[in-house]
Amino acid sequence: MRPLVLEARDRPGGRAYTRFDLPDRPEFGAVEVGDSYTRVHALARDCGLRIRPSPPPGSAGLALHVNGRTLDADHWSESSANPLAGPERAVLPPRLEAHYLARTIPIARATDWDAPSFSAHDRSFTAVLRERGMSEAALRLVNVAGNHNHSDDVSVLGWWRGALARRSDTGAGQFEAGAATLATCMAARLDGSVRYASVVTALAEAGGLVLARLADGSEHRAGHCVCTLPLPALGRVRLRLPLQPAMRQTINRAAYTRVTVALFDAEPFWQEDGLPLTMWTDTPLERLFPRLHPATGACIGFKAIVNGAGAAAVDRLDEAAFERLALATFARIRPNATGRVRYVARHAWGTDPFAGGAYAAWPPGMVAESRAALSRSAGRVRFAGEHVADAPGIEGAIRSGEAAASAILEASS
Ligand SMILES: Cc1cc2nc3c(=O)[nH]c(=O)nc-3n(C[C@H](O)[C@H](O)[C@H](O)COP(=O)(O)OP(=O)(O)OC[C@H]3O[C@@H](n4cnc5c(N)ncnc54)[C@H](O)[C@@H]3O)c2cc1C
Repeated sequence: MRPLVLEARDRPGGRAYTRFDLPDRPEFGAVEVGDSYTRVHALARDCGLRIRPSPPPGSAGLALHVNGRTLDADHWSESSANPLAGPERAVLPPRLEAHYLARTIPIARATDWDAPSFSAHDRSFTAVLRERGMSEAALRLVNVAGNHNHSDDVSVLGWWRGALARRSDTGAGQFEAGAATLATCMAARLDGSVRYASVVTALAEAGGLVLARLADGSEHRAGHCVCTLPLPALGRVRLRLPLQPAMRQTINRAAYTRVTVALFDAEPFWQEDGLPLTMWTDTPLERLFPRLHPATGACIGFKAIVNGAGAAAVDRLDEAAFERLALATFARIRPNATGRVRYVARHAWGTDPFAGGAYAAWPPGMVAESRAALSRSAGRVRFAGEHVADAPGIEGAIRSGEAAASAILEASS
């Protein structure tokens, strides 16, 4: 078969988005590749792409800024900035969720997470965390930079799935030349063609073929279609397909985690305050990570990752207002940064029309039904992508795409 890929953007990779024009090739999207990502590793080898080991999490230290105070995370338990009581005081804010959720995981294997037999556990983070003893003060911290829009709105099953999937990882790595190089290589090797800037606006089945209509008015016909659009993007497409009602509901109710990633250049102000480069904060910048020069390893700036309600708030700001807020925040949390940080760029996944968020975040009570709906084809259209996959992240996206392609080949042989 000769596939035709219709891609809305002018680049391959989707949510694997590397800024190749900047010296450290920073990632706006996917970064980490687990050891268990067997398909990603195999494709990287085929493409001659190196995945270098990531430093162990926390190995370079952590600074916190909470309740107006900046401190080394080593001093958290005795700090007056720490609003927690009892044994919770010793748990760092970014570890609070795991502290309660990893204790007992009621599903046996990562792939069981969407089985109807586990639906009794399809409850919100808030419900499970409270039941396990989390205080209201800790719950407030969890909602500062948790990997969800709000702990009330997301099923905890997804967290358990991720934790179980990571248990088989002995480590993780990162694409040396950028995560998007894998998609670039796959696009170049495809025995078919890729059409960029091709926004699909309608998908229909007619006369034994799938018809895709593009925003430029052109139409493409094919015997089969693999549709990998994230659900918020799929919700914008007119679908004249034999869709099950549960699938329509899944598209309509899809709630993706809002994530905004912002990049900053910086002069080495940290040499003066001596604090770690990585930060967890309760400010509008939420989490900060160093951008390291690939040749020298020197820190050349920061990447801020803002999640959920925080992302929604900064997404409302225009560039000038965001820059003012970000630089004022740097000056507040690291006074030595004043005048020594420069805003470079940001990407808001929540407002990106071709994503609608960083990843699917299933509302409580919907997991089994939604995932079963996604696993069914709609006539000649099969669905694939992170939201359909059994495995996490880019590994899941690739595996589910391969499974859909294999099913088409089998059906037509
Ligand atoms: C900030 C961030 C950090 C992440 N970190 C990690 C990580 O460390 N490790 C990991 O494994 N994963 C990570 N992920 C998740 C990972 O990036 C995704 O799971 C994976 O890339 C999803 O692949 P996909 O093919 O399902 O979707 P996408 O990569 O989103 O591909 C869908 C494609 O459909 C296109 N499209 C959308 N609408 C249309 C339309 N109307 N017409 C034509 N084309 C359209 C899009 O442009 C896109 O290219 C992260 C994601 C984000 C945003």
